[in-house]
Amino acid sequence: MPRETVLGGVPETPGEDDDRDLRPQTMRDMVGQREVRERLEIAVDAAQKRGEPLGHILFDGPPGLGKTTFAHCIPNEMGATKQMANGAGLTAPKDLLPYLTNLSEGSILFIDEVHRVPRSVEEYLYTAMEDFRIDIVLGDGVNARTLNMPLKRFTLIGATTRAGMLSAPLRDRFQIREHLGFYDTADLTEIVRRNAKKLKVRLDEDAAQMIASRCRGTPRVANNLLRWLRDYADSRANGHITTEVATAALKMAGVDELGLGPHERQYLDTLMRVFSGGPAGIEAIAHTMNVAVDTLTDDVEPFLLRSELLVRTPRGRMATAKAYNHLQKTPPKPTTGDGQSQLFD
Ligand code: ADP
Repeated sequence: MPRETVLGGVPETPGEDDDRDLRPQTMRDMVGQREVRERLEIAVDAAQKRGEPLGHILFDGPPGLGKTTFAHCIPNEMGATKQMANGAGLTAPKDLLPYLTNLSEGSILFIDEVHRVPRSVEEYLYTAMEDFRIDIVLGDGVNARTLNMPLKRFTLIGATTRAGMLSAPLRDRFQIREHLGFYDTADLTEIVRRNAKKLKVRLDEDAAQMIASRCRGTPRVANNLLRWLRDYADSRANGHITTEVATAALKMAGVDELGLGPHERQYLDTLMRVFSGGPAGIEAIAHTMNVAVDTLTDDVEPFLLRSELLVRTPRGRMATAKAYNHLQKTPPKPTTGDGQSQLFD
C-alpha cells in the first residue's frame, strides 16, 4: 500500500518487518471493523465446512487501515498457504505465471495495489479467477498456439486504495467486496494499548488516548506515533510514556491536536496569508510553497479535505472557517461582489 503521509518529524514509516511485529495474526486479534470481520468469518467458516476454497475477496480503502492485515489473517485461519504479490510488479503476463503455477488447492494469492495490474495481465486473471485455468499463447503469427493450463482452485485477495481504477470485469470477479473505513478513537486506543504491550513499553491511559485522537483514524499512523513516543521516552525519560512525555514528543514531531503535521499547517498558513484563504489555484499554492503539485494533492491535501479544513471549489482551494479557528487566525472580511475571487482565477 502507499503509506500514509509521514507526520512531521516522526521518522519514516517502518519497513515490513516492523509492521509484522504489530500485525494481528488472526481476525479475532483485530480491533474494530466488526461488520467486515463478521462477514469474513462467516465466509471462512462456510468455505471450511463445505471444503471449498473461499470466494475471491477485494478490499478497498485508504492506506494503513488493515487490508494487508486481513489478507494475512484469512489464510492463517483457513490453514492455507499464501503468496504475496504487488500489482506494480506484475508488468507482463510472464510475471504472473510463477504465482499461478505455485498455487495449491485452497491457497491464497494476495495482490496488493491490484489496480496497478496492467490490462494485458488482468486478462489472464479473468479465466484464472473464474475457471481456474489460463490460456497461454505461445509463439506468434501462423505458428502461434494456445496452451490451456488448468490451475489449482485458489482464492485471490486483492487490495486497493483506488477501487474506481479497477476495470469492471475484474471488479465483478471478486465475490466478496469489503470497504475499510477509518477507526474510531475507542478502537484506536485499544490498538495502541495492545501494541504498547507488544513493544514492552509502559504507556499511561491518557497518553494512549492522545495517540488515538491524533492518528487520523489510521492504525498504521497510531503505530508510527507509538514507536516515536517509545524512542522519545527511552531517550529523554525513563522509558515510561506519561501524558507529559507524550505531549512533549508530539510537540517535537509537530503533530497537533487534530493530527495535522507541519506540512499541512504550512499549507493552510500559506493559503490564508498569501491568498486570503482562497479560492486559489493549486499551481499557485505549490509555487509559493516551492513544492510539487503532486506532493500537495497526494500527501498534504487529503487529510485537510477529510477534516473539513479545506474545500476544493471549481475556482480553487479555500480554507474553511474551521481551519481559521484551528490556526487561531481571523478570517478575512467578505468582499462585496466577486472582486476577491477574480484575483485568484
Ligand atoms: P493496509 O494494507 O490497509 O495499508 P495494513 O494492514 O498494513 O494496512 O495495516 C497497517 C498496520 O496497522 C498493521 O501492521 C497493524 O499493526 C495495524 N492494524 C491495521 N488494522 C488493524 C486492526 N484492525 N487491528 C489492529 N491493528 C491493525
